[in-house]
Amino acid sequence: MKSAKAILDLMSFFVQVVKNVVQAMDGFGTVYDARSLEAYIETQTKALGVLMFETCWRIRMQDRPVPVSRPCACGYTLHHKGVRPREMRTVLGQMTLDERHYFQCDHCGTVEYWGDELRGASDFSQLAEDRIAFMGKDGAFDDAAKALKHLGLIELASSTIRAVCERLGERLRARTDHQAAQQHCPENVPAEEKPVGLGISVDGVMLGRIDPQHRRRGSKEHKVPGKTALKHFFHEVKTLVIFEFNRRGETLRKTYQATQERVEDFREKVALEAQKRGVQTAQLLVFLGDGAPWVWKTASELFPKAIQILDWYHAMEHVWAVGRAKFGTREKELWAWVKVRETELWDGNVKAVIAAVKVISAELGAPDQTLSETARAVDRAWIAYRNIGYFEDNCQRMNYPEYRAKNLPIGSGVVESACKHVVASRMKHAGMRWDETGAENILALRCHYLNGRWDSLWEQKVAV
Ligand SMILES: [Zn+2]
Repeated sequence: MKSAKAILDLMSFFVQVVKNVVQAMDGFGTVYDARSLEAYIETQTKALGVLMFETCWRIRMQDRPVPVSRPCACGYTLHHKGVRPREMRTVLGQMTLDERHYFQCDHCGTVEYWGDELRGASDFSQLAEDRIAFMGKDGAFDDAAKALKHLGLIELASSTIRAVCERLGERLRARTDHQAAQQHCPENVPAEEKPVGLGISVDGVMLGRIDPQHRRRGSKEHKVPGKTALKHFFHEVKTLVIFEFNRRGETLRKTYQATQERVEDFREKVALEAQKRGVQTAQLLVFLGDGAPWVWKTASELFPKAIQILDWYHAMEHVWAVGRAKFGTREKELWAWVKVRETELWDGNVKAVIAAVKVISAELGAPDQTLSETARAVDRAWIAYRNIGYFEDNCQRMNYPEYRAKNLPIGSGVVESACKHVVASRMKHAGMRWDETGAENILALRCHYLNGRWDSLWEQKVAV
């Protein structure tokens, strides 16, 4: 009767914990103050908790007959080879999974474990991983380490937190890729809601990156110390926000996707997220974007019925850019000029805006054709000149009075928030540099949380 003995051991440990706490109470006011007394009880109950968890799990596993063999995905058979205990860190403390049996396929070599269900994607329990990732998704990994320690949850190096976050993010990406491959069968990707109106908006934001070869394991957050010669550069992160809106034009639930992938791969994610959000049944569909040609190409191909709107946020950003090119830091004149253009845009008078931009372009002179692309991006004459084309090309998408009349979103806040919310607030701190995979994994984790799907982190096992 192994289990009877184990339960007796557990009960005597419980008695010891009670004795310890009673004794500690006697020390209140001398050995312990209020805080340290409570911390002591927390430690004692966690020690009891982890022993209870370990013992009861072992009993449960011993009660279940271990299979001799099981089918392998390759079509052959996995055979029982032995027991491989493994340590696992839980929120209560470290425990041993000692009834962990391993199976191997003689044909393809695949190894699978039986009795390993408590583990997450690494040597932590799922709840421990949940809490580690929850802290790691928002702030620098250093800060997450401090917070986890201070809250008495778990003590970890920041590099471990990064590793846990990345593993989970990697897993989510595998799940998304799997779903993306199945999206042509809508029953495989059920819609989460039936929206009245659905707004789809894509945008890009630049992220500091480092050359993957320079990634140093255990380094703090890929931080690049001031004087090293690490190769770093900027790379575009494409962001998607899909939001529901009602007849009154109010914005409801928002979900996000963000990736550094090529346009073609990003399009798959856009289509998948739209499907999850019920694009098929939406009565009104609006696609918001900046002026970039790939954006409208994506819109026309994926959502031919969507009303295309140049979002207000970007339209105004371009007005400001032209104003700055002309007035520089002369704030008073700049503001006066911008305000007039803003009213014109608001009233749908795009022609007046184009005329005003043309006047400035003429004043700044013809753009210098010998300049490089980088130089053109900051050259005043080029900025004004290019914006004539920007407003001309998009004038059909700037009928703001009509959109307002129909209570359609024009994306002033939503579009801006996507880049800030998903990418900038977490990943663009001073000196932060990411390698491609690391950034991609953390983006996936952040989106999963922001999309209100956090609790489904372990919903389905996907081999990574
Ligand atoms: Zn096999």
